[in-house]
Amino acid sequence: MGKAIEKIYEEALAELETASDAEAVKVISVRYLGRKGYLTKFLRNISKIPPEERPQAGKRANELKSILAKKFAEASNRFEREAAEAIDRIDVSLPGRIIRQGSLHPITQTIRQICDIFSGLGFQIAEGPEVETDYYNFEALNIPKDHPARDMHDTFYVSDNIVLRTQTSPMQIRVMEKQAPPVRIIAPGKVYRRDSDLTHTPMFHQVEGLMVDENISFGDLKGILTTFIHRIFDEQTSVRFRPSFFPFTEPSAEVDILCVMCRGKGCRVCSQSGWLEILGSGMVHPAVFENVGYDPKRYSGFAFGMGIERIAMLQYGIDDIRKYFENDLRFLRQF
Ligand SMILES: [Zn+2]
Repeated sequence: MGKAIEKIYEEALAELETASDAEAVKVISVRYLGRKGYLTKFLRNISKIPPEERPQAGKRANELKSILAKKFAEASNRFEREAAEAIDRIDVSLPGRIIRQGSLHPITQTIRQICDIFSGLGFQIAEGPEVETDYYNFEALNIPKDHPARDMHDTFYVSDNIVLRTQTSPMQIRVMEKQAPPVRIIAPGKVYRRDSDLTHTPMFHQVEGLMVDENISFGDLKGILTTFIHRIFDEQTSVRFRPSFFPFTEPSAEVDILCVMCRGKGCRVCSQSGWLEILGSGMVHPAVFENVGYDPKRYSGFAFGMGIERIAMLQYGIDDIRKYFENDLRFLRQF
């Protein structure tokens, strides 16, 4: 019996060795000296020991109990003292750790700038589906199935009649179907094309614009777009309108600005031309008005579309569009 009590004592000391803080000491103390602790149980069961061994065993158990209690208290005090000293050693004059703040993605910032500028010109913001029917993406925009313009789009087809929209232009149709003139909207959003290189990604952003009313002329188109360009770049930016072709506008014009990199001298970014194309525009084709039930004899209007990444690349002087989508924080934190 004497051996059992010595063994409990040895085990208690071994466990105490493993404790690394006051909390751990407390747990061990309860395991041995608590109400259901090993040593407590031994004393409670002392009547089962043969009567001649009982006084000796009881004395020894009480001795070891007080030794353990003292050792637990000492260990506990030592850990608490060490913890307090560690706090004293903290240098409160050191600067704190900086918690980095997140920021808006540069494309989001440019979208917001564009929306702010057009809101200021009285345009409302419209949004629509990225998975679009062939009708809205092409047919209603005067691009029938066999039209050569479809080749330029590198379309992702979901099925024969469902596509990932290749442009934000379907929003022209969706808006005009729902409301009568006057219309003055822009529609920012994601578009998709099977294309990937320095200046193309399979997903990118466009902003579509549409203004329809009585007596809207090409002069209104020029005025609105020139104002926009002066606000998004700067007042001094030279703008040029160049005849072009789009199936859903007639006449159509591409809009160039004087190269922001070389100021017209000619460089790699502008392919030595001195000019950068930044958007497409034109007067809404009468066939499009007929598709949505507007009277082309009474109403006229203009539409335009631009790639947002393209604008952002010129704003920040970035020459690889893929940088916007690589999620490299060293790049994104610069904005
Ligand atoms: Zn240039």
